[in-house]
Amino acid sequence: MYSTFLRPYEQDCDCRCPAHRGQPRLTYNDSNCHCLITCATQPLTLLAPEVGGALFLNFHGTLWFVSAPEPGHWDWRHATPVDVGHRLLATAIAIADALHSSSIELQRFRHH
Ligand SMILES: [Zn+2]
Ligand SMILES: [Zn+2]
Repeated sequence: MYSTFLRPYEQDCDCRCPAHRGQPRLTYNDSNCHCLITCATQPLTLLAPEVGGALFLNFHGTLWFVSAPEPGHWDWRHATPVDVGHRLLATAIAIADALHSSSIELQRFRHH
């Protein structure tokens, strides 16, 4: 069980990322970011092998996609919001809604 009540964007990076280690991570497409998908700074994330990556909401509630060109390696440099022209746009609203409502439901398990 997590002993923290901080949100991911209030956390400091706890993986070995050269760009963020020990610091907050407010930008997801930093070119030298090597954060793990399990980094403390990573929001609730939907792993989506069907599309070769993962989806998550940033701290403004915008859906982002990061690809995983190799298992366990995340291409943060090219992480991008799912926006007009994105191949996942057609499913973005459904996924964003699912992540958002899941996140709200899970808030109740945090310590206050
Ligand atoms: Zn990083
Ligand atoms: Zn990290």
